[in-house]
Amino acid sequence: MIDVPQPPRPPFERAPLRDGRRVCPMCGDVTASRRGWWHRECAALWNLATRPPVALRDLKAIAGSRCWSCGLEGYVELEHIRPLWSLTPDERRELRWWLPFNQQLLCAPCHKAKSAREARERYDAQNPDTPAVRRRRDTRRLLEDGQLTIVDVAP
Ligand SMILES: [Zn+2]
Ligand SMILES: [Zn+2]
Repeated sequence: MIDVPQPPRPPFERAPLRDGRRVCPMCGDVTASRRGWWHRECAALWNLATRPPVALRDLKAIAGSRCWSCGLEGYVELEHIRPLWSLTPDERRELRWWLPFNQQLLCAPCHKAKSAREARERYDAQNPDTPAVRRRRDTRRLLEDGQLTIVDVAP
């Protein structure tokens, strides 16, 4: 079971000031209204972070329905560039990981490939001492050191 963290609470969410005024939960500015204390733009940003369908619609409106990895046009899915499960406890308190800063559009095959790659990385990180993982790590090190070269063989 993958632990996918939920976005943190808005950074400036707190009780009303002594005089009854409120601060905007996103930017911390005192707002005039006692009732609707979110700025419109700040609320929109919060929606992008917490409602994937809203974020997907927004990105498609800006960038079109094109996969950011292979460039193919068509059906795309919202994806977090830095996977949320990989955030450290400190990073889980930073809203930016849930914002467009960390979002992209991928077609289904690219999304699936990225998820598979990340699942393997996660497995390797959790099981660093199994023989298969050790072999994978050693091979990767050889490749990175340039001691091992992969030659493409013509079909
Ligand atoms: Zn605000
Ligand atoms: Zn793609």
